[in-house]
Amino acid sequence: MKDRVFIGIGSNVGDSQENCIRSIKEMIKDGRLRLQGVSSLYRTSPVSDISQGNFINCAAFVSWAGSPLSLLEFLMGIENRMGRIRDGIKDGPRIIDLDILLFGNLVLQEHSLTIPHAELHKRKFAIVPCLEIDPQIIHPGLRRPLATFLNKIEGGQSVELIRKISLDEIVTKTQIS
Ligand code: AMP
Repeated sequence: MKDRVFIGIGSNVGDSQENCIRSIKEMIKDGRLRLQGVSSLYRTSPVSDISQGNFINCAAFVSWAGSPLSLLEFLMGIENRMGRIRDGIKDGPRIIDLDILLFGNLVLQEHSLTIPHAELHKRKFAIVPCLEIDPQIIHPGLRRPLATFLNKIEGGQSVELIRKISLDEIVTKTQIS
C-alpha cells in the first residue's frame, strides 16, 4: 500500500530554482517513490530572524511505498548529496530543504518526525504550493481545510508565483502515473 505524501521543497542558496528541480529528479530515481504531481515554483520571503535571501519553494505530491521514517531518511540523504550543511542553525540559509508536510491522513509525533509538519499550518510558503496541487486538502491533525489557515497567518510572509514546472524538466512521460 502506497501512501500519498506532500513534500515541501525549498532553497535559498545557489541556483535555487535548479536546486528544487534537481531534488525532484533525485526523488524519482528511487523505486519506492512515484511522482503524482508538482506545484509551480514560488519566490517566498524567509520566515526567520536570520537575515538571508528569499527562498524558492514548491511542493511535490508523491506516493511512497515505505514507512514515514524511511521517507525522512531518504529525503535527508538527498539533502546531504546536494551539499546541505547541517550547521545546527535553525531556519538559516540552505541549498535544499525537504520536509514531509503530509503523509496521507497520518498524525504522528515522534522524536525525529512530526506529521503533519509542525509548521505547515503557519507557513504560507508550504500551504500555497500544496493547495495548488489539491485545494481540498484537510489538515488531518487540526481537522480543518488547509485553506482556512491561510487568512489566519499574520502579514509579512510573501509568496509570489514564479512559473510552472514543466514535467519534461524532471521526468519522462513514462515515469508519471
Ligand atoms: P530542517 O531540515 O532544518 O527543516 O529540520 C530537519 C529536522 O527536522 C530533521 O532532523 C527531522 O528529524 C526533523 N523533522 C521533524 N518532523 C519533520 C518532517 N515532517 N519533515 C522533515 N523533517 C522533520
